[in-house]
Amino acid sequence: MIPYGRQSISDKDVAAVVDVLRSDFLTQGPTVPRFEQALRAACKAPHAIAVNSATSALHIACLALGLGPGKRLWTSPNSFVASANAGRLCGADVDFVDINPDTLNMSTTQLSDRLEQARRDDTLPHIVMPVHFGGQSCDMRSIHALSDEYGFRVIEDASHAIGAIYDGAPVGDCRYSDACVFSFHPVKIITTGEGGAVTTRDPALANRLGMLRSHGVIRDAGQMTHDSDGPWYYQQIDLGLNYRMTDLQAALGASQIARLDRFVKQRHDLAARYDEAFEQLPLRRQRRDAANRSGLHLYPVQLDPALPDRAALRLRLFDMLRKDGIGVNVHYIPIHTQPYYRALGFNDGHCPEAESYYQGALSLPLHPQLTRTEQSHVILSLRNGLRTLGLS
Ligand SMILES: *Cc1c(COP(=O)(O)O)cnc(C)c1O
Repeated sequence: MIPYGRQSISDKDVAAVVDVLRSDFLTQGPTVPRFEQALRAACKAPHAIAVNSATSALHIACLALGLGPGKRLWTSPNSFVASANAGRLCGADVDFVDINPDTLNMSTTQLSDRLEQARRDDTLPHIVMPVHFGGQSCDMRSIHALSDEYGFRVIEDASHAIGAIYDGAPVGDCRYSDACVFSFHPVKIITTGEGGAVTTRDPALANRLGMLRSHGVIRDAGQMTHDSDGPWYYQQIDLGLNYRMTDLQAALGASQIARLDRFVKQRHDLAARYDEAFEQLPLRRQRRDAANRSGLHLYPVQLDPALPDRAALRLRLFDMLRKDGIGVNVHYIPIHTQPYYRALGFNDGHCPEAESYYQGALSLPLHPQLTRTEQSHVILSLRNGLRTLGLS
């Protein structure tokens, strides 16, 4: 089966992890700060905090920005459940702002309208979390302008977007947000096995994030409430978690991040070939913004929204491709339609664009290990599938 996403592990990656295995530190030791330094350099951000997953990173970013019961987080329905769950884990209320059907990212027009209404109703969000779907940055300038107007904080869920560029600088530099989160799950652009990170420009926020990832404990005498009892002494000054990344993971990450640009370039070369092959097919593609480089975590296509019974056609196409050994996938089931969120009161029709996109969506294989032969097989199989369905 040709997977839709897969890690690319070099001999150097293997050697880097083995070196750590033979060293003194397995959990967070000297390699985590080394990886964080590489992240800061790649993202041009003054602070980076590595943790054990993007889910953890989203959770502590929300906590550090003061999200809690009685407050609201708004995010995109077209994302993995972890984006919204971060708000729920803080005890906050969550709501979803529908997507723009071309970019598949949170619609800033919708966001602006919803904010205006929320101001009238006194239900403004504390945090807005845009998700850079497929690796293409959201319209962060507009979201930042709205955050100034309405007073909310911004966490970018950039799980798909390390190596992406927005407005001439790397996604993650936090010019237009309080914090930015990355995932290093193996299907993402670089991997640490499991892993994630938060970047920020705010030193106080970075300090809180570092504390929350490790039990709310500090060892720096300058931050203690009274003089240290001795060299062994630490203080717990807040309620934190154990979300630490291991040095084993950080060694893999530091080795992988050296190839970040190459990985993104390979993804772009493959995507360009898909773009060309699909020009004549009845498929809608995500609009990519030429001025802003996508990380291209995903290559999603969509059956023509005008087709009747699209969900049934998509299922048949999905099955045909899987039978041909192609590990197509679907990103994403709109979060608000999950049973957990339905139980909180969300219904079909809450985000019609995200729901419509989901009916026809398919993610095709895209990763640096994908060969041209494999890609030709994907293209041919998709063409045949569409013909069998009478669509081309
Ligand atoms: C993968 C992903 C996450 C969760 O990442 P983990 O590192 O697996 O916790 C969160 N948000 C989005 C958009 C993702 O794609």
